[in-house]
Amino acid sequence: MKYVSTRGKAPELGFEDALLTGLARDGGLYVPAKWPRFSQGDFDALAGATYEETAFVVMKPFIGDAIADGDLKAMIEAAYASFGHKAVAPLSQTGPNTWLLELYHGPTLAFKDVAMQILARLFDHALAKRGERITIVGATSGDTGSAAIEAFKGRETSDIFILHPKGRVSDVQRRQMTTVLDANVHNIAIEGSFDDCQALVKALFNDHGFRDEIRLAGVNSINWGRVMAQIVYYVTAALSLGAPQRKVAFSVPTGNFGDIFAGYVARQMGLPIHQLIIATNQNDILARTLETGRYETGKVVPSMSPSMDIQVSSNFERLLFDLYERDGEAVSARMNSLAQSGGFELGDEAFKKARALFAAARASEEETAETIARLFKETGRLIDPHTAVGIKAAEECGADKTVPMVTLSTAHPAKFPAPVEKVTGEHAALPARMADLFEREERLDTLPNDVKAVADFIRARARTGNT
Ligand SMILES: *Cc1c(COP(=O)(O)O)cnc(C)c1O
Repeated sequence: MKYVSTRGKAPELGFEDALLTGLARDGGLYVPAKWPRFSQGDFDALAGATYEETAFVVMKPFIGDAIADGDLKAMIEAAYASFGHKAVAPLSQTGPNTWLLELYHGPTLAFKDVAMQILARLFDHALAKRGERITIVGATSGDTGSAAIEAFKGRETSDIFILHPKGRVSDVQRRQMTTVLDANVHNIAIEGSFDDCQALVKALFNDHGFRDEIRLAGVNSINWGRVMAQIVYYVTAALSLGAPQRKVAFSVPTGNFGDIFAGYVARQMGLPIHQLIIATNQNDILARTLETGRYETGKVVPSMSPSMDIQVSSNFERLLFDLYERDGEAVSARMNSLAQSGGFELGDEAFKKARALFAAARASEEETAETIARLFKETGRLIDPHTAVGIKAAEECGADKTVPMVTLSTAHPAKFPAPVEKVTGEHAALPARMADLFEREERLDTLPNDVKAVADFIRARARTGNT
């Protein structure tokens, strides 16, 4: 499979180069040159397959012969061996025709583990083959950093530096990062906000001398490998509920548009998805875009579902590429307008297409709290606030009650215990394998909000150049 940039000007790359490159040189994102198609028979053949077997079949066309089948199978097995549920991403029923797709059984209790665990192995495999080493630097408001650290810890081919805003991530989130004591893991608490952390990382990537010197790489949600890995659970969930003979709807708590874009790809591949619902919290840039046809950034307002508190949905660019019939210049023009004036019009045709592909709804803080409380009352079950946003949007947008409605449950309630307890009076306990999280030793360094201080710190500890 070849990969092309959404802005049409960067060179075509093979799978492993697209994986390691992240952002294309023309500023675009890499996407497969075409979407693979599965026939009804291909889906039928997956009946009864394990998550790992399905993952191999679904990811294979995107990888082609870049990785030997045996190697890919071994990486998939290893990636999901650490999950706390044999099904990896089990479904559970919450009402007559409503389901939760539990994506939180990984080592850090949020759905980002599903992709990050395989991504780290794909990186390691490609780098070892080339005899190369990289330095991963990222900013986190909580979930991405811990998932990345868990996935990349102890790897010979990479060092990982994660910046988080000092005192502004939850205790569970911080400890999930800082209690990982492998020598290649470096946690940096920045004296500043999450936006400051992101700005620091951006500045490091824009310093091309530094970038080349330490072989900087990113594992943020624009990485194609993450999107690819997320397609798998749409397939396993739909097959469990009767696909390909029966259609299924999905509601997806959305921030950077990575998770729901994977659902879009599943549908392009032929999975019979009746509806794809974009669920947002009060930071509702995507819901507004589907209402008005204008994509316009606002100011981030902190919510109880912080992993969706964003105002630019990076992966939306991948959808735009398809909405504009894969015309890189059309995408470039919109992205320039976004950078210069903070917004752009989709245009009539693209707007119509987007509305045919997706439904969207936002949940206010009150609605999110009410949904957590109601589900607890009806089923005795605790859900996290991100999941609650998804359920609320499903209730609002579900078009056909005879179609199974699957809400993606993106985090375990114990990852966000404070809002859950406030609403239900119940404390969500950590799973047994993590029960000692608050007794484990922590290691982190605190740095000022200063690029030079951060660059010096990384330079002194990264092993790149020393191989
Ligand atoms: C990252 C995250 C999301 C948003 O996913 P995107 O792919 O960015 O749209 C939703 N819920 C949780 C718990 C997350 O960590």
